Amino acid sequence: MTRSEELFNRALKLMPGGVNSPVRAFGSVGGTPPVMVSASGPYLTDADGRDYVDLVCSWGPAIVGHAHPAVLEAVHAAVDRGLSFGASTPAEAELAELVMGRVAAVERLRMVSTGTEATMTAVRLARGFTGRNLVIKFAGCYHGHLDGLLASAGSGLATLALPGSAGVTEATAAETLVLPYNDLAAVEEAFAKHGQDIAAVITEAAPANMGVVTPAEGFNAGLSRITSEHGALLIFDEVLTGFRTGYAGYWGLTGGAAQSTAPFTPDLMTFGKVIGGGLPVAALGGRAEVMDYLAPVGPVYQAGTLSGNPIAMAAGIATLTAATPDVYAQIDAASLELSAAVSSALDAAGVDHSIQRAGNLFSVAFGTSEHGVRNYEDAQGQQAYRYAPFFHSMLNDGVYLPPSVFEAWFLSAAHDTRAMDKVYAALPAAAEAAAA
Ligand code: PLP
Repeated sequence: MTRSEELFNRALKLMPGGVNSPVRAFGSVGGTPPVMVSASGPYLTDADGRDYVDLVCSWGPAIVGHAHPAVLEAVHAAVDRGLSFGASTPAEAELAELVMGRVAAVERLRMVSTGTEATMTAVRLARGFTGRNLVIKFAGCYHGHLDGLLASAGSGLATLALPGSAGVTEATAAETLVLPYNDLAAVEEAFAKHGQDIAAVITEAAPANMGVVTPAEGFNAGLSRITSEHGALLIFDEVLTGFRTGYAGYWGLTGGAAQSTAPFTPDLMTFGKVIGGGLPVAALGGRAEVMDYLAPVGPVYQAGTLSGNPIAMAAGIATLTAATPDVYAQIDAASLELSAAVSSALDAAGVDHSIQRAGNLFSVAFGTSEHGVRNYEDAQGQQAYRYAPFFHSMLNDGVYLPPSVFEAWFLSAAHDTRAMDKVYAALPAAAEAAAA
């Protein structure tokens, strides 16, 4: 038995499924997950001393690579000043300014610790601001594990083939309308029926939790138009895409880096992952008029003992500072090159597939070449069984992919030629395994 297997077997007795977040358990690909002990640049190292090229990047945060020297230095310096003060610190304002300097739609920001908290607060705020109850979400979009948004939520629920979660009351579920993604007519229809009661539409800026799905031309702008026509809010969830798909996130890619060029402006946005560079930071931001409904200014309550934690802020500031426009250009190019290599390996092995892309985010879907994946129904209809053999072949050859076909692949600025050559060398055998 390897050291990793020993450690995972111990964890199995201590924690449900041996993990603290379900997808880490390899439920849909099978096998025992390697237990990781360190990470550096593009690599993860397991308990047996095996290195893997990491194409998960902590599910997004590690945009400048693991253990980036400037990030570690900032964190070490912050640790030396103390761990948590339970009071305001200069670092909170500094990170807020960095976010607002990149994303003009953010006029005020509230720091929280997880993406789930950010979306949960955004939904509460939208209800408090509009005085309405219903929220529209799209099937296959994941916004964290808040009760109201777990229906047809993609991510780990798709991986485990769950329609929703036990423990969510019918009353809560009834306040969420779940619509097909990329279908503006369905949104128009829902507003025609329930417009007076809809507080918000929440959407991933570009879905990446049913695999990656490209928002149809005009879809996000259409959501903005429909919500504002009906006095509802648009919550643009950039927890995954924010500061990853570009300097100003996915909204930036669609012209939203500055208000003057934006075809639409979300009322609220949520951030996570990259904003904390690997420490627990997330945030919600948006129109000052809406954000000022939050306590202590307004009547919508939200709080957090460790919100704006100084060490986490230091990691976020250093990460965003290191994530320069050049970093995004590099990741964009690496993503195009890698996805093309995956596609040609699959073509050579005769495996029908589509590369699903939104900016520099991509995933692979199997048996979907006809029209790609446009929504959750397409994602679930794919030949998902081809992914497990593909995944394990890559893992065997030292490449750590997301352990589910419903997740995006993540690159970082630290993925150099040596690391990528290892990935390219592993692809033909993995493609053959997927073909079997
Ligand atoms: N929103 C999106 C789009 C996400 O991808 C995620 C997590 O993957 C979340 C929200 C929840 O974030 P967290 O896992 O930090 O609670």
